[in-house]
Amino acid sequence: MNKKITVIRGDGIGPEIVNEAIKVLDKTAEKFGHSFEYTDILMGGCSIDAYGVPLTDEAIATAKAADAVLLGAIGGNTSTSPWYKLAPELRPEAGLLKIRKELGLFANLRPAVLYDELKFACPLRDDIIGEGFDMMIMRELTGGLYFGERKTETVNGLETAVDTLSYNENEIRRIARRGFDIAMKRKKKVTSVDKANVLDSSRLWRKVVNEVSKDYPEVELEHMLVDNCAMQLVRDPKQFDVILTENMFGDILSDEAAMVTGSLGMLASASLNDTKFGLYEPSHGSAPDIAGQNKANPLATILSASMMLRFSFDMDKEADAIDNAVKQVLNEGYRTGDIMSEGMTLVGCKEMGDLVAGRI
Ligand code: NAD
Repeated sequence: MNKKITVIRGDGIGPEIVNEAIKVLDKTAEKFGHSFEYTDILMGGCSIDAYGVPLTDEAIATAKAADAVLLGAIGGNTSTSPWYKLAPELRPEAGLLKIRKELGLFANLRPAVLYDELKFACPLRDDIIGEGFDMMIMRELTGGLYFGERKTETVNGLETAVDTLSYNENEIRRIARRGFDIAMKRKKKVTSVDKANVLDSSRLWRKVVNEVSKDYPEVELEHMLVDNCAMQLVRDPKQFDVILTENMFGDILSDEAAMVTGSLGMLASASLNDTKFGLYEPSHGSAPDIAGQNKANPLATILSASMMLRFSFDMDKEADAIDNAVKQVLNEGYRTGDIMSEGMTLVGCKEMGDLVAGRI
């Protein structure tokens, strides 16, 4: 298969980690008889420096013409970088919001996997961790509280702020379908998270998710209140397969799940629209503190590239090959600084990419 990939290297460690992901993708293409064609666009601080805006319309058009987008990370040091003296709509992160909107990316997937080899990084007790865990947080990305009407006004002499949490049934149905589709590729369990004891939007969420579940008889569905889910994530994370939830709850729970794994440099993510198209990026930022020093962990970006193969290109065997290569390298004791522990072999970003590519 021939696939077109738009590449956004971005800022900070972005270019270093993307180089390693491309190295692994090229090796995978060679092994499995595919060809990947890459086109670079600028986004974030590097686009501000070149064009005065964090993302140009030409760059968006290039991204739209591809089969998928691979992103490193954008942004600089928010205290010292001149990018953060600009108006909010001209700052690096505005590029990310714009590309998500322009590409219609409404479903955000964040796997939280605790690898056996990295159990030491998990802040939970051994008896809670057990054999480790592997869950996927599926978050609605373009609706709910963050996109509802908002205003601040004086009411009866008091400054009063209002945010609106609104979902229609179609917005819920399309993310729910995505959630069940993903569960079919995994352990076939969906935990739908809401606050249906209080919120109307959650009651509609629950009703529509129940309707959608009828088309997926093989998938076990449970409903969980968001406050209980926040507790269960630290009490017994092994119980989860796919957590399906709305925008704000997903924002909070996905960071909690990430923290439970303890290894930021290992966490991949994907944002999908209603076709096979998706944008794939690590969950971490541009780590300006270690940029350009060959210290960054490229594994989250490599695992994001694996998600691209699985979810946008339906290349499950190829994605498995990458995931297994990462596990093998960890099993052999190779570590970047962020996941280093006693007795392991410290390697740099480039060497980690070579090691994974060498095991495809
Ligand atoms: P960060 O995730 O960049 O870094 C947090 C800490 O984790 C740092 O100490 C960093 O060195 C370390 N770290 C992160 N990724 C690592 C990796 N792959 N390997 C080794 N260590 C790693 O978060 P931050 O410092 O709060 O933000 C830095 C910049 O990134 C800011 O401009 C922020 O806005 C931006 N950001 C971008 C994205 C994105 O591009 N999607 C996401 C989050 C933050």
